[in-house]
Amino acid sequence: MENYIAKTAKSKILYEEAKNHLPYGVSSNYRYFDPYPLYLSRGKGSRVWDVDGNEYIDFNLGFGVLEVGHANEKIIEEVKNAISESSILGFEYSKSIELAKIIKSRFNVDMVRFSSTGTEATMHSIRIARAYTRKKKIIKFEGHYHGSHDQLLVNVNPLRDGIVPASLGVTEESLSNTIVCEWNNLENFEKIVKSSNDIAGVIMEPVAMNMGLIPTNVEFLKGVFELSKEYGFLTIFDETKTGGKMYSGASGYFNVRPDLIILGKAVAGGFPLSVIGGKREVMSVIGPGKTAHGGTFNSNPISVRVSILTLKEILTQNSINYIISLSKELEKGYNDLAEDLDIDLKVSRWGPSGSVFFSDKMPSNYKDFISTDIQRWNTYFYSMLSQGVIPMGGFNEEWTTSIAHTKEDIQIHLEKAEKSLRLAKEK
Ligand code: PMP
Repeated sequence: MENYIAKTAKSKILYEEAKNHLPYGVSSNYRYFDPYPLYLSRGKGSRVWDVDGNEYIDFNLGFGVLEVGHANEKIIEEVKNAISESSILGFEYSKSIELAKIIKSRFNVDMVRFSSTGTEATMHSIRIARAYTRKKKIIKFEGHYHGSHDQLLVNVNPLRDGIVPASLGVTEESLSNTIVCEWNNLENFEKIVKSSNDIAGVIMEPVAMNMGLIPTNVEFLKGVFELSKEYGFLTIFDETKTGGKMYSGASGYFNVRPDLIILGKAVAGGFPLSVIGGKREVMSVIGPGKTAHGGTFNSNPISVRVSILTLKEILTQNSINYIISLSKELEKGYNDLAEDLDIDLKVSRWGPSGSVFFSDKMPSNYKDFISTDIQRWNTYFYSMLSQGVIPMGGFNEEWTTSIAHTKEDIQIHLEKAEKSLRLAKEK
């Protein structure tokens, strides 16, 4: 950490000022880390710069948003075009239909509604599931994060929230229809399903990416879908993270068709847009006098146009293949380092993202994850930062590669990782 502090004097000064105006000096709890957060000023391609002028190769990419890279030239051009025709029109924007069609065919859904953030979209999705089934209970999994609204804010972010519910101010009443289940544990899931006849749906990150990236047991996933059919509740894939990481998201990858999916983050190339998509009969409950869904900034022209461009021309199958190939190199590099340095390190990867766990066993659920070695992870993290690489957004996050990253960026990442892992091993 000393090297990080030595390099970031201006961030420290800004923090001293910022904390008088913003709690913890940040606009989202997840941006804070000890001893003070890093204040960034700009980005280009695979690089970002902090207020001290330090350059970093960025594998956090806005917490998994910028697979198109920072300040992508095509996107800059499109934003200029869009904004010259207004940034918000109030009534429905004509091009939202084109985007709806693109998403329908790429993600195999019948209808969509747009919101602005992952939080809003998951909040609406559980309301839709309840409206459709006329049942109340929602099953969520330990360690899965679905945004900052009350009903699913439980058993997430161990270090940052540390309490259950995962925030002060979340009442027992707002969690009274939420049932928490262990991830990758079909027996536990089946028991819960059988214990209630009031289950509206199950929401999940189809690949868990908020307790590090934890591989999904495919048999477990299959079992969840079978039980949902047998017992008549809906399956909801929160693909806020996974959606942009494979061409057709996790539902395409696992070849399943959930009743509802949520998209966000990468699908709009860096602009706020989220999607609730699903089967026609389920989505049809939305509407005036039926099920509420609204938002002033929903399908605003800038987000819609950038999303169309991103999905049609930038995050093509070819470019997704490219960013996955870079991520595979990182995975291999970390595995080789773990072996060479003889360190207990487990490396997970799905598509262009992956995580490193300081543990002798690959975590398969939240309890495994919180028993990995956080002190070693911190040593590794600050060492990476002080050497000019942001390896991921935090202990419970993952790396993501972008079309702006090069093989050389991966080499540099791994060189710096070697030193950082050595330091972590000494801890
Ligand atoms: N769902 C998942 C799976 C997420 O990872 C996140 C954000 N990290 C959200 C929902 C919330 O999205 P937002 O921050 O856009 O509200």
